[in-house]
Amino acid sequence: MTHAQWGRARPPLVHAEAWQAVMAAAEWRCECTGECGGHRSQPACPREDTQAHRLHVIPRDPHTSPLEAMRLRAGDLRAVCEQCHAGIARIARRDRARRQAEALRRAQQSLL
Ligand SMILES: [Zn+2]
Ligand SMILES: [Zn+2]
Repeated sequence: MTHAQWGRARPPLVHAEAWQAVMAAAEWRCECTGECGGHRSQPACPREDTQAHRLHVIPRDPHTSPLEAMRLRAGDLRAVCEQCHAGIARIARRDRARRQAEALRRAQQSLL
């Protein structure tokens, strides 16, 4: 299962109690403060949990694997809206791709 897929699941793959705790702590509002790369004019995302647009509970560290994410506690998770989740996932993917490219380049250089 990819990172993008597990983020869409609801009820989430994180423990149901953890999910509740995260949502309560977030007061059912998106906790993104600009990490998604969107809404730059206002650092805090204004979106809330609604029937039509449910918030996602995701790891605070966007590089957490889905398997690791299932074991995280509420303190290591955060509530974000669909748009922010997509933005954060996109940036994390770009970071990973860049790191892999760098690691590959270093590996190739060490062979020369
Ligand atoms: Zn948001
Ligand atoms: Zn955001």
